[in-house]
Amino acid sequence: MMLNISKLKREESLKDKCGVFGIYGKNEDVARISYFGLYSVQHRGQEGAGLAVSNGKEIKTIKGLGLVPSVFTEKDIASLKGFIAIGHTRYSTTGGNTKNNLQPVLMRYKNEEFTIAHNGNIINAGQLLKTLPPGTPLKSTTDTEVMGWIICNAKGKSWEEKIMNSMSKFEGAFSIVAMTKTKLIAFRDSYGFRPLVLGKLNGGFVISSETCALDTTGATYIRDIRPGEVVSIDRKGFHEIGMMKGERKAFCLFEYVYLARPDSILNNELVHQVRQRSGELLAYEAPVGADLVVAIPDSGTSAAIGYSKASGIPFGEILIKNRYIGRTFIQPEQRIRDIGVKIKFNPLRKIVKGKRIIIVDDSIVRGTTIKHIILLLRKSGAKEIHIRICSPPIKNPCYFGVDTPNKDHLIASSKTVDQIKKFINADSLAYLSLSALERASRQKKNTLCSACFSGKYPLPVDIQFTKNILEKSKSC
Ligand code: SF4
Repeated sequence: MMLNISKLKREESLKDKCGVFGIYGKNEDVARISYFGLYSVQHRGQEGAGLAVSNGKEIKTIKGLGLVPSVFTEKDIASLKGFIAIGHTRYSTTGGNTKNNLQPVLMRYKNEEFTIAHNGNIINAGQLLKTLPPGTPLKSTTDTEVMGWIICNAKGKSWEEKIMNSMSKFEGAFSIVAMTKTKLIAFRDSYGFRPLVLGKLNGGFVISSETCALDTTGATYIRDIRPGEVVSIDRKGFHEIGMMKGERKAFCLFEYVYLARPDSILNNELVHQVRQRSGELLAYEAPVGADLVVAIPDSGTSAAIGYSKASGIPFGEILIKNRYIGRTFIQPEQRIRDIGVKIKFNPLRKIVKGKRIIIVDDSIVRGTTIKHIILLLRKSGAKEIHIRICSPPIKNPCYFGVDTPNKDHLIASSKTVDQIKKFINADSLAYLSLSALERASRQKKNTLCSACFSGKYPLPVDIQFTKNILEKSKSC
C-alpha cells in the first residue's frame, strides 16, 4: 500500500511564511550566490520566490510562483548583474498566493528605489494602511508592502533614518532584508521572533534567515542581527545603525521544533541537537516498552535519535521516501493540494511486521497525517504503535509569521490527549512538556514565544480584529 504522505504532511505541518537572503559583494556574482542562498531557505517557503539585484544605477527584479529552480532560469540569473541582491522564498496564506504578492517588493519613491523582503507578520497592517497618503501605488495585498510605504513616507534624511523612525509603528514579527541602489539594509523586530543572521563572504557580507544559507554560499557566520537592530552595508563597509528597545524578547520556540533546518544554528544552538535533546527528554517523560524507535522522514529524525539514545530502544527506518521527486508545484489551496504530485513513502513490511513501534514526530496539527501513517503501519502488520510528539499540543494560532489553521482545525484545541489518541488510533500518545522543550532549547524561558502551545502571546493580540485584517490583507 502506497500513501501520498507528501500531501498529508504538507497539510499537517505548520508552515513558516518566508525565507530571506541578502548579499553585498563587489566582484561577486550576487545573483547566482543568492540563487543558492534561496535554495537553502526553500524550506521556509515553497509557493514563490523572487530576487532583486542592484548595479548601483537600477534595481532589476525577477519573481515567480513555484520552487526556486522553477522560478529562475540560467538566462535570468546571468541577466541579473550587480553587486547587491536580496531574495525571498514565500509561503502564502490561502488565496494570497498570487504573483503580485511575491517579494522582494520594489517601491519607487521620489526618484529613489527601495526594495524589501520580509519574514514574519505584522498584526497592525490594516491600521497602518489607513495612514498612508492617498494615491499610494499599492500593488499587492501584503503587510510587507504596507511596511515598505510606511518607511518611504517616514521622516529621515537617509533610508536607515526612515527605518529607525518607522520601526516602532510595526507590531509583530519582522526579519527584513532591504536594498536601495547602493545599500543593503537589515532590520529585525524587538521581540526577535524570526531569526536573521549576518555572515562574511570574501570582502562582502551576507544576511539570511538561517545559518544554513551562510554555509551553502561559503559565508562565515559573524553574528545574529539583534532583536530591534538596524544595520546597513555600503561601499564603506558594515554599519550598526541603531537599536529599537523592546519590552521583552520572544524568539519563536517552534523554530527549534520544526521550522528551521536541523543544520542551522539558532541563538548559538544547533537545531539538530535541540531536537535530539527534546527526544531524550521525551523518553524520560513518556517511556514505553517497544522494539523500535522510528521517525517520519525527515522532520522527526533528530528527535527520534534522541529518544532512542535515552531509552536504549534501537532507532530504525520503516518508511522509505522516494527521494527522486522533481518539481512539485504544491499549492496552498486545498483543491490544488489534493491534486499534488504523489511523493510516496513505502513501509518496510518485513521489518514492521509483529513489532512494537514508537513513532517520534515534531508536532500534530490536524492529526490527519499521523492517523494515515498508523493505518498504513497496522496494515503492514505492526503489533503496537506508540506516538511520541516532541512539542506540547498546539492549541492556539500564530500571528507572528507562521501559517496555522483556524483554532477549530487544531486538533489539540478541542480534543484531550486521550481523545486524540483514539482519533489517530494509536496504542499510546504522549507530548513533550513545555518546560522540557524550553530546557532543550537552552534559551531563557522569558526570551521565547510559546504562544501556540501556551496561549500566552508576547504582545496583546486582538484575535477577532487580527483575523479580519489577515483576511483583508494577506500577509507574507
Ligand atoms: S505562536 Fe508559536 S509559531 Fe508563532 S511565534 Fe510563537 S512559538 Fe512561534
